Amino acid sequence: QDFESKPAWFDGKFVALKDANLNIRTHALQYGTAYFGGMRAYYNEGKKNLYLLRLEDHHARLAQSGRILRMHWNMPFSEFRDITVKLLKDGGWRENCYLRPFIYKSELSLSPRLHNVEDKFALYAIPLNDYLDTTRGMRAAVSSWTRLSDNQIPARAKATGGYINSALAKSEALENGFDEAIFLDHRGFVSEGSAENIFLVRGGKLITPGTSSSILEGITRRTVIEIAADLGIETIERDISRTELYVADEVFFTGTGAQIAWIESIDRREIGEGKIGPITEKLRSTFFAYASGELPQYMKWLTPVY
Ligand code: PMP
Repeated sequence: QDFESKPAWFDGKFVALKDANLNIRTHALQYGTAYFGGMRAYYNEGKKNLYLLRLEDHHARLAQSGRILRMHWNMPFSEFRDITVKLLKDGGWRENCYLRPFIYKSELSLSPRLHNVEDKFALYAIPLNDYLDTTRGMRAAVSSWTRLSDNQIPARAKATGGYINSALAKSEALENGFDEAIFLDHRGFVSEGSAENIFLVRGGKLITPGTSSSILEGITRRTVIEIAADLGIETIERDISRTELYVADEVFFTGTGAQIAWIESIDRREIGEGKIGPITEKLRSTFFAYASGELPQYMKWLTPVY
């Protein structure tokens, strides 16, 4: 069965994804007044299990975005979980997939505003293995576009309209022959990728921008910090200057789509030895073992579909 024929949640019920269509006057389309999540389910071929990653954290982040954007999304976790699990089960999903939950201003009304506009929840799934090619190193470039700041469009809110900022940076990077962009924030410090958080390794420690650097509070970021702590690796959250990227031992991106993607060069300067570093490698292999349900200590982060 082709994924477009599989169920999506739309307007309070399941319909085939290909039939989940919106009116062109929809507020969210005209003004970008929506916010979203990005979740993954990993299929373990050997054990025939499909696991959703950190579903509760995704639910909590969606609710957090709703508070910022005045869409008081109050779907209880149990309902969110049941819809998500049923969508995958009824779709017979037996492969790695990406799920996109979102809350959007559904009214057909004019004027950009957040209050007194009806909103709705929707969810769909698509097949997804690598989003960034993790079999090789990324060639990244610092973007000429600045990360939007908390006082403009808060990155923390994962707002649809804010992704214009990401799209500008990503296209610039790709069209200049790079794989991914690295944003600096409005103060000039390193922020994040177009759809990823970023980590440096220096002197055996992880360094990542803090949550005041106009970043999305990434769930993979949190996972990496927690896995690293369990491996005895300390993480420091602090401001990072652009040139500190160039002299790091290792640099990698994290994200639900990106997973853990190591960076080979930044602004054409080779990072470390130009190959995947030992700490990145260790975190990556632990991450994939956890995601496929092989590590008992991290089963707490997994919701089984089957
Ligand atoms: N930053 C941005 C801008 C993103 O779009 C994403 C992807 N959701 C991330 C970071 C990584 O967040 P997460 O690990 O929760 O997917």
